[in-house]
Amino acid sequence: MTSVDAATRRAQLKLTTNKIDVSPGLRVPFFVPAIGDAEIDAVVRCMKSGWLTTGHLCAEFERQFAASIGPGVTAIGVNSATAGLHLALEALGIGPGDEVIVPTLTFAATAEVVHAVGAEVRFVDVDSSTLNVTAAAIAAAAGPKTKAVIVVHFAGLPCRLDEIIPFCDANNISVIEDCAHCFPGNLHGTPIGAWPTAAAVFSFYANKSITTGEGGMLVTHSKSIADRCRMMRLHGISRGEFSDQDVAKPTWDYDVASPGFKYNLPDIAAAIGLEQLQRAENLRQRRAQIASVYTTMLADLPIRIAPQSKISKHGWHLFVIEFLREVKLSRAQIINRLEESGISTSVHYRPLHQMSYWRQRYSLRNATFPVASSFYERCLSLPFFATMTDRQVAYVVEKLSDVVKE
Ligand SMILES: *Cc1c(COP(=O)(O)O)cnc(C)c1O
Repeated sequence: MTSVDAATRRAQLKLTTNKIDVSPGLRVPFFVPAIGDAEIDAVVRCMKSGWLTTGHLCAEFERQFAASIGPGVTAIGVNSATAGLHLALEALGIGPGDEVIVPTLTFAATAEVVHAVGAEVRFVDVDSSTLNVTAAAIAAAAGPKTKAVIVVHFAGLPCRLDEIIPFCDANNISVIEDCAHCFPGNLHGTPIGAWPTAAAVFSFYANKSITTGEGGMLVTHSKSIADRCRMMRLHGISRGEFSDQDVAKPTWDYDVASPGFKYNLPDIAAAIGLEQLQRAENLRQRRAQIASVYTTMLADLPIRIAPQSKISKHGWHLFVIEFLREVKLSRAQIINRLEESGISTSVHYRPLHQMSYWRQRYSLRNATFPVASSFYERCLSLPFFATMTDRQVAYVVEKLSDVVKE
């Protein structure tokens, strides 16, 4: 940890006064989506167009999203990342008798989709220096039933795909990326989404780095996975089955090739997504700037700062800290103190091995997951969003410093 003097603090915060100037009653929400007139106008245009559900705006969003990742990938709009993860597992043919490795430090969705296809979840702990799943952890957990791993780029820090993919390829384990925290991001300069995994799934949920209210995008290099997911996202409806007849197909005629799902992304959502996509890198840069201010300003406190890395571009979805043991107040007390000061925070995550369903199903114990278990006891996610003002950031720093020193 580096020591920061008051002058550096002020410079970082671009403040001119000696004391951090905070108006009474300043409120700092945990997250506010960056929605402007462009998004609002795009929705109005869509609604006036007469076409609301999946149509040309979804197709255009898919094209532009794929282009933002790079050449050779197909993007398929879905109504949530959860839906995209479910479709990816289904397309890989994973089902009863199979096992899928999932890190315990993640949101409920990452594991529930494994259950949805009838496979078993094999939970693994995360690495203490990155809070991500590693190739070594996957190797230790993999067995003859292991068909896939769902890696999570936790908080937006990319997993070491350069180590995970070679191990999984050599052992016939498919890699699915839960990219709900990581857009845009890269590892060794290669965008997240462009690495040769089975599928990378992004979330546009209301509090994600770009949002469509609800929505997601599945990205893949594989034509067969893309075709299967595209068909299954809309009831398994296929028009291709008729193509042996060399006649133009009427649009009212279709086949059900497989019983699918209702996972399509409507044009109203895609309209928002197209605007958000334009701003995605700017929004990320502002979050990165806030992260750098937090990192510098909180360096002297008895807390561990969110893991960062020089080999990757961080998606910066969350800014997580971990209180060291010397902090006297409990995490719950700190949350309450901050809330009393008008600052909302959150906790990511109570690990899945502690959730009653999974704990009971697999008789899971904290001792098997020491990193995630101890992180959860002492972690806190700070307010973190692109439209946060410098004053709000300064206010969080000031109030957090006060409570941690209590
Ligand atoms: C938000 C989130 C999801 C689910 O995204 P939805 O679009 O809401 O389905 C999955 N995994 C992680 C890690 C998330 O944070």
